[in-house]
Amino acid sequence: MERIRRTKSQAKKASMKKRAAIIGVALLLLGGFALLLTRPASTEDVAGRSGARLSDPTRVCMLQDNVQAQAGLEYEYQGKKYYLCCGGCLAAFKANAEQYRTGVDPVTSAKVDKALAPIYAYRGHAYFFASEESLAMFAQDPQRYVRASVH
Ligand SMILES: [Zn+2]
Repeated sequence: MERIRRTKSQAKKASMKKRAAIIGVALLLLGGFALLLTRPASTEDVAGRSGARLSDPTRVCMLQDNVQAQAGLEYEYQGKKYYLCCGGCLAAFKANAEQYRTGVDPVTSAKVDKALAPIYAYRGHAYFFASEESLAMFAQDPQRYVRASVH
């Protein structure tokens, strides 16, 4: 009788462990799903979550200001090269190039030419800077400047 009871409680413990494991996996899946939802659908976090300077401008859609997995379409405007992720963005850029060719430095608020500006990729988004100095400031604490800007 004693032995049976012990076995029963062991079985109960094992089943509770199993249940905890299932709940753990479910939470993990839920967390992953939430993460997917909060990320823009068309971008890839190629630079890693902490961000990095982007030396390849061909990977930036300069209409959407996001980072693409592959090189985009090249568009030459006033002797400078701009990149767009698809035909739709290219057409929209062409129609209003004077507006889209510029971005705003999130640190200094200076207007910058996207074809010339140093670029920093952070969470799939491309940020353009007036100088290497403001890029370096941004890199130290991106969240501070991202929160302040209206993206
Ligand atoms: Zn596009």
